[in-house]
Amino acid sequence: MNCIDFVKQHPDEKSCIQHFRRIKEEKGIVCARCGHTSHYWNKAHKSHDCKKCGYRTTLRSGTVMESSKLPYQYWLYTIYLMSMTKKGISAAEVQRQLGHKRYEPIWTMMHKIRAIMGLRDDKYEMDGVVELDNAFFKTHNDESSDEPTKRGRGSQEQSTVLVMAKVDPKPGRPRKHKKPSAFRYVKMIVIPNSSSSTMNDTLSTYAKPEVVIKSDGWRGFNKIKKVSAKHIKNIVPPKE
Ligand SMILES: [Zn+2]
Repeated sequence: MNCIDFVKQHPDEKSCIQHFRRIKEEKGIVCARCGHTSHYWNKAHKSHDCKKCGYRTTLRSGTVMESSKLPYQYWLYTIYLMSMTKKGISAAEVQRQLGHKRYEPIWTMMHKIRAIMGLRDDKYEMDGVVELDNAFFKTHNDESSDEPTKRGRGSQEQSTVLVMAKVDPKPGRPRKHKKPSAFRYVKMIVIPNSSSSTMNDTLSTYAKPEVVIKSDGWRGFNKIKKVSAKHIKNIVPPKE
């Protein structure tokens, strides 16, 4: 779509909301509380409310925009700009185009969009034997609007990262004192929490059910067998 048509179709925040609403309705909404699939559009809250139990699914929930306070128009225009520019566009340039005061929220938004754009290409690249591990990182959390957050600006948050390492066996006989396997490819994904369902969802995004999993038996991987062919636990006893 050229930029004249794009701007014509999405001239304001309202039309961008309609755009995201249409995408969500085409995909179908499943109530997180009761599983019902029929919803009312709640204009005031920009949400889909379950016809059965009233549970509210906001337009942002389950999308890249979740927990962001940036306007829908920012998201749609940035996705457009990023997909139209072959060599990539800088966060500073997008910030200028949107006319936003601060750089950081724009950078964070683009980082998230890039992650989902990459995700499509990355699908199912993890196969064979994959070692799973979890890690925690302190991250700088500042994706909000110019309103100060409850925790204050730039608060530190802990992020959980799922580390997936594809194991590529070395050709030839394993030698003494040498590790029998070598890592060929490592992928790290920031995940919202360390529950076993999040682990399973994340793994199944990148690996087919035929994958063989190796892990240290951490509790988050308890149900990983559901989305894999085999789970080999190598439980390391705690150090004394
Ligand atoms: Zn419901």
